[in-house]
Amino acid sequence: MSRHPPPPPLSDVPLEPGLHVVATPIGNLRDITLRALDVLNGCDLLLAEDTRVTGKLLAAYGLSKTMARYDEHAAERARPRIMAALEAGQSIALVSDAGTPLVSDPGYRLVKEVVAAGFRVFPIPGPSAALAALTLAGLPTDRFLFAGFTPPKSAARRTFLAEFAQTRATLIFYETGPRLRASLEDMLAVFGPRPAAVTRELTKLYETAVRGTLDQLAVDPALDEPKGEIVVLVGPGVAEAASEADADLALAEALTRLAPGEAASEVAKSLGLNRRDLYRRALALKDAG
Ligand code: SAM
Repeated sequence: MSRHPPPPPLSDVPLEPGLHVVATPIGNLRDITLRALDVLNGCDLLLAEDTRVTGKLLAAYGLSKTMARYDEHAAERARPRIMAALEAGQSIALVSDAGTPLVSDPGYRLVKEVVAAGFRVFPIPGPSAALAALTLAGLPTDRFLFAGFTPPKSAARRTFLAEFAQTRATLIFYETGPRLRASLEDMLAVFGPRPAAVTRELTKLYETAVRGTLDQLAVDPALDEPKGEIVVLVGPGVAEAASEADADLALAEALTRLAPGEAASEVAKSLGLNRRDLYRRALALKDAG
């Protein structure tokens, strides 16, 4: 017999009318907020990507609710009914199978429409695989970019990855087991041997994180078609050294405002180059000009 957690105390404060976007667990069923349970329990209508998946979550917390399906296929047909319910002052909850709706999951167009129609949207925050992966990858977290799923075919994937090659941020991709190897090879080809991490089955029994540089990960036998759900993270690249031409351009501009010593200091700081070399170059540019 499966063991379910005892139901927590639920709020009996009625929900405000509007669309409540509710994050649900990405594996561990206990990763759900009390507020999310309040909303699932108290909403007038629960929109679920797959009603069977959400039914299991509700059952685990002793809840039952009439649900309607809301996925990319049903969306066009479902929206008029949803808008009518909002018009009637109802509270509607939206969940996906796992994690935060709208993040590589249905919901964006609905939210856009609900906002345009002047109804309120309430975020009920909680798990998302992208952020969970970021917290254990050991890569810089001050700036990150979520890029979603990579395209399935290699040529399209390399074009897609190239869009992010100059982005100075940790890149976060959703990936599937069968495509992981080819995807890591393409990432190595596009980004070079940057630090990276492959995280898998987060919050579940077989949670793993493999960290290394992309050249190591691309040949790591442990990453041969792994089972389960995967997030790949790639650390930011190191800024390429500025060329001599870049330095000359920056110096020439700085010399219109500053003395050679100050111009050299400013450019050294902004381009990460050696100040003494720049000072010599600044004097030469001043003499020539
Ligand atoms: N909305 C979800 C979220 O907030 O993370 C993502 C839904 S998307 C359809 C599913 C993808 O998210 C999976 O293919 C995988 O890349 C990633 N994912 C979801 N759960 C995960 C987990 N427990 N561990 C690792 N990756 C996960």
